[in-house]
Amino acid sequence: MAYAKRLNRLGTETAFEVLARAQALEAQGKEVIHLEIGEPDFDTPKYIRTAAAEAIEAGFTHYGPSAGLPEFRRLIAEQWNKERGIPCDADNVVVTPGAKPIMFFAMLALIEAGDEVLYPSPGFPIYESVANFLDARTIPLVLREQNGFDLDIRDLESKLTSRTRMLVLNSPHNPTGAVMKPETVEAIAALARKHDFWILADEIYARIQYEGRHLSIASLPGMAERTIVLDGFSKTYAMTGWRLGFGIMEKQLARHVARLMTNSNSCTATFVQKAGHAALAGGQSEVKAMVEEFRVRRDLIVEGLNRLPGVTCFKPSGAFYAFPNITGTGIKSAELAKLMLEEAGVACLSGTAFGAAGEGYLRFSYANSAENIGKALNWMGEFLAVRAR
Ligand code: PLP
Repeated sequence: MAYAKRLNRLGTETAFEVLARAQALEAQGKEVIHLEIGEPDFDTPKYIRTAAAEAIEAGFTHYGPSAGLPEFRRLIAEQWNKERGIPCDADNVVVTPGAKPIMFFAMLALIEAGDEVLYPSPGFPIYESVANFLDARTIPLVLREQNGFDLDIRDLESKLTSRTRMLVLNSPHNPTGAVMKPETVEAIAALARKHDFWILADEIYARIQYEGRHLSIASLPGMAERTIVLDGFSKTYAMTGWRLGFGIMEKQLARHVARLMTNSNSCTATFVQKAGHAALAGGQSEVKAMVEEFRVRRDLIVEGLNRLPGVTCFKPSGAFYAFPNITGTGIKSAELAKLMLEEAGVACLSGTAFGAAGEGYLRFSYANSAENIGKALNWMGEFLAVRAR
């Protein structure tokens, strides 16, 4: 049987493959500490679970509007306007099953074959995957450790052409945990206005930031009409499995994206949207406590990684990832990630899972208990000490 050629251009996320390999080792009786998957290890807060159960009982089990429940869209618009200064109302918001569909739909709605799409590298692999799928020209922008993994404005400027259509931003950033400097955000906005391109601003980790305040590029003058803000509930409210996200964008584009929803999912599960509504309307003390706990673990893992032979680690300001430089071990990233799993019992990702620019790094998700992080650091330390002899 023949498959469409475009499938050859579609990438994937390797975190799930590493998880499967780790689980296979566990099935053989080996102990593995999971630092590979990017999801909070906390349970979804009780008040959110209760709201979902109540919504099911109240009959929110039918189709709803493709763009999302009107009162939910209104609440999102109000909060994102107040918190992030994004000029918007309910008509700017489209609710989707998870935040990922916003990447797909925004690119489907805006990218023609041959258009140029720029994105951070290392970076979340789905940006490049979807752009390639749509036959765009994919242009990685290398984030350098010596620049705090911030975007290099001169590099960006040198890569702009008449075909530049979209720039993807992600702050706080997966996989490095870096937060873009406000002056970088301002400089990018100036370039976007001058050269007239779209911004896809992936702000899914915006509420998991330890230092400084999150600056949304959509809040800057003239930017709301050319920015799609991608956000959701997976990370902030530990709701990865619920599949709930949204985009904020100009109204005409929102109508097109809603039509893409009609053509694909019809709508996002209505009781899940009710749970999301409760999440936003309720007290945020559990989110604050989770972020505080992540901060403690960040300090623990960064300090521990810096003590490992051949390893140095940048201190990230957001998300829940550490991205240590492992070039001092003399081992390539993919090989070291494999050895860490098989020899040290620690599941992590090769930096190259986030693009070629990730060579020389590993990614650890510290969404695991402080006790397990401590154990993982010990095991990796022992393994590297033996290798160094
Ligand atoms: N954007 C980034 C940078 C992510 O790391 C992730 C999840 O890992 C997503 C988007 C997708 O979020 P969701 O699970 O809500 O689709």
